[in-house]
Amino acid sequence: MKSRYLIMLFIGALMSAPLILPTFQVTLLNYIGLYALVVLGLVLLTGVGGMTSFGQAAFVGLGAYTSAYLTTSAQLPAWLAWAGTSPWLTLVIGIVFTGLVALILGALTLKLSGHYLPLGTIAWGISLYYLFGNLEGLGGQSGITDLPPITLLGLSLDKGEKVFYLIWAILLVAMLITHNLLNSREGRAIRALKGGQVMAESMGVDTFRAKLVIFLISAVFAAISGWLYAHTQRFVNPTPFGLNMGIDYLFMALIGGVGSVWGALLGAGVLTLLKQWLQDWLPALVGSEGNYETIVFGLLIVLLMQRVPGGLWPLLTKRLPLSSKPSRALLKAEVEVPPLSRRTPPKKGDLILEARQVTRSFGGLVANQNMNLTLRAGEILALIGPNGAGKSTLFNQLSGVDIPTSGDVVFMGERINGVPSRQVARMGMSRTFQHVKLLPGMSALENVAIGAHLRGHSGILASSLHTERTEESRLLAEAHRQLERVGLGDYLYEEAGSLALGQQRILEIARALCADPVLLLLDEPAAGLRLKEKQALAELLRKLRNEGMAILLVEHDMDFVMGLVDRITVMEFGQKIAEGLPEAIQSNPAVLQAYLGGAE
Ligand code: ADP
Ligand code: MG
Repeated sequence: MKSRYLIMLFIGALMSAPLILPTFQVTLLNYIGLYALVVLGLVLLTGVGGMTSFGQAAFVGLGAYTSAYLTTSAQLPAWLAWAGTSPWLTLVIGIVFTGLVALILGALTLKLSGHYLPLGTIAWGISLYYLFGNLEGLGGQSGITDLPPITLLGLSLDKGEKVFYLIWAILLVAMLITHNLLNSREGRAIRALKGGQVMAESMGVDTFRAKLVIFLISAVFAAISGWLYAHTQRFVNPTPFGLNMGIDYLFMALIGGVGSVWGALLGAGVLTLLKQWLQDWLPALVGSEGNYETIVFGLLIVLLMQRVPGGLWPLLTKRLPLSSKPSRALLKAEVEVPPLSRRTPPKKGDLILEARQVTRSFGGLVANQNMNLTLRAGEILALIGPNGAGKSTLFNQLSGVDIPTSGDVVFMGERINGVPSRQVARMGMSRTFQHVKLLPGMSALENVAIGAHLRGHSGILASSLHTERTEESRLLAEAHRQLERVGLGDYLYEEAGSLALGQQRILEIARALCADPVLLLLDEPAAGLRLKEKQALAELLRKLRNEGMAILLVEHDMDFVMGLVDRITVMEFGQKIAEGLPEAIQSNPAVLQAYLGGAE
């Protein structure tokens, strides 16, 4: 069955729910909708972006309190009086205000790494909670009462059964927007965050901006949920915006399945119902002293996480009678569209890359010392040397990942010392990694399309509204073409993680080619490849060279290097010890000494 029909069935059931269910169950569904909206933000932030936040409840509070304060304070200062006249106005103000707070908090905390980010979110989660309780004018612990209901088209949504439709309509729109966003150029950039900063930046992704954007979106979803909550309840107090609730939201995201839009809804639903049932039934069974429901709830969560670490949604989709055909979004790769425009390629023999006296020291250790190197269009240069010789270090200096202590790197006639790697990528340098950096759960096609990031322009808004259809098909068609070019045309829709290591390496080359580079940097491209795969790879690299590509590769496999490359540079202890044609290098005494300790 197509997933579209299932969704239509679901929406139909939703529409009729308030007509047939008793009021308290409608109220429960309202809560599920409100929670799911917040959890949806966490799907983006935690599931897709890899950032853990305990502070979402505080953003819900910002949305709720902004609206509560403005719509109830009779004595608003004159310049603000207009704001309190309609909840719709206070919604806009709440979104803008929360967005600003999120921008500031994001700018301060998103650069933190490891455990510091979650700790940071706990810190502001707690601070805002106390602010709600202590700020004069917000009513202290007892909060603000008598909020007006939301009115829509002249209809007052003063009952749970009525506001139900608004809550769920907003949630479904937010889910659609999130879904669109994730299946777009910007979405791939966001998903690339999980492949690590170095990988994403080398594909041209501004990782800090990507993080800030999803942080902002998740905060806005939370603020809207807070606004809805405030005007559904018609009163607010600080309790639902504290750290406890922040933790609950995170649990919902984890239990639902943190990587998927529907997981947000499932997680919110399962946890809300579970909590409700425990509160209803446990006291009847074991008595009401001791708050057993909290303990049992905690145990159940631990059990769930242990049993289904990926969340419930992936488990469910395996059982649903859904067709396994690639999604419509991805089938755009097979549409006939004009190809993306290409940069003017350099002429064969043009100087592409030059290292001048590049030195890099780490404290006392000199990893690269006065390294010189030139590379021209239509040439393959191999960088070889024993482990620890400084090859990867040089690689990093050349690609903008690291900055030389002294000396210059010149690419396409420009000095690029200190230029961020995403800028270098824009200039036409593209790379693969010694340890493959792919997104294993994402299709081969989408992985490769990340490489074309800089060749598209549509932003967050166009992606969310899905108005970038033509550009999106051109990007996917380009990824398709590159996969065909490297011989992986049969694996477009396979998950990248299910491919053999050799194929994953080739996939990285396709991703690099997607950027339309003039220079390819390959870090040990033949490692882990079988003989046949190596031959195919060599064939591909020869073809690229003939087309005028400049290729620099770090490699251990001498058989592979000797038959393929034009020149070899040999490093030892951070210095160049030899350079020349493969045949000359093979018999160079200094090289033999370095590699074999003079045994030959
Ligand atoms: P290769 O890639 O040729 O095996 P590397 O460039 O990785 O060698 O390393 C060269 C030397 O520099 C090694 O001694 C390594 O320990 C050192 N080194 C590399 N990166 C760092 C770093 N970030 N900090 C300190 N030492 C480093
Ligand atoms: Mg290395």
